[in-house]
Amino acid sequence: MSYLDELFGLNGKVAIVTGGGRGIGQVVAEGLAKSGAKVVVLGRSGADETIDSITKAGGKAYFIACDVTKEEQVDAALAEIMKRSGSIDIVFNNAGICMHQGTFEATIEEFREVIDCNLTGEFIVCRAVGKIMIENHIKGSIINMASMSGSIVNIPQWQCSYNASKAAVIHMTRSLAAEWALDGIRVNSLSPGYIATPMSVDTPQELKDAWIPLMPMHRMGTPEELIPAVLYLASDASGYTTGSDIIVDGAYTCI
Ligand code: NDP
Repeated sequence: MSYLDELFGLNGKVAIVTGGGRGIGQVVAEGLAKSGAKVVVLGRSGADETIDSITKAGGKAYFIACDVTKEEQVDAALAEIMKRSGSIDIVFNNAGICMHQGTFEATIEEFREVIDCNLTGEFIVCRAVGKIMIENHIKGSIINMASMSGSIVNIPQWQCSYNASKAAVIHMTRSLAAEWALDGIRVNSLSPGYIATPMSVDTPQELKDAWIPLMPMHRMGTPEELIPAVLYLASDASGYTTGSDIIVDGAYTCI
């Protein structure tokens, strides 16, 4: 076994990826599988492409339909994983939505929808997984998807609900990390900058035109560029890293 495999290898681990049917979740699911993890994709719609590409590359993966905002669906999915795979070692808590609206354009219902998915949905998954890990003495790693929008406001894109949800994810992560530290469960968050995915394709062109020249690297990131940070947080290499937020944004939050 190489030194890198020893540090970052995930052989024998079971990794959940929520929202793994497209975008960042799909690419990270493939990266976790290539590092040896058995991957379970949870999502509202199917994830055929993700499962096909992992299995064609010789990895192991399966899909369970699950809306992360519905506690009973999350509980049922996790119970099925424990039955089929016997463990849950890694969670990439990635499912999320974004609405590009000014504060007076958004309805309260739309505000709630974003918080419900990005914050409450991640909490539902954390809480249910944390319970299973504690009951089964699993020293697991939970990686919550935050965003640079949890630390800065992206002028001129007004998305108050999204920014608020991601800031709360970063602090929820710190809170759970402290609460579960002695249980051996590590909880960290990942804050990407602007990444080219189906979600960012929806960003109005005039906003992209305004943003990209402001980025120190003058380009968006790719989902592939997030894989190393996730592998670090998922693996034993990050044994003393918990409650941290890793920013991968090409220095966007530095300006
Ligand atoms: P996409 O829209 O491409 O993918 C989001 C995924 O989440 C989809 O698979 C979607 O599937 C799933 N999803 C949404 N709601 C739910 C739900 N209630 N239950 C289960 N699955 C759900 O987005 P990205 O890949 O760009 O984003 C992934 C994460 O990364 C999000 O949390 C996002 O906020 C965050 N992020 C993205 C950045 C970017 O620039 N792209 C930057 C920083 C953070 P379906 O709708 O079929 O259920």
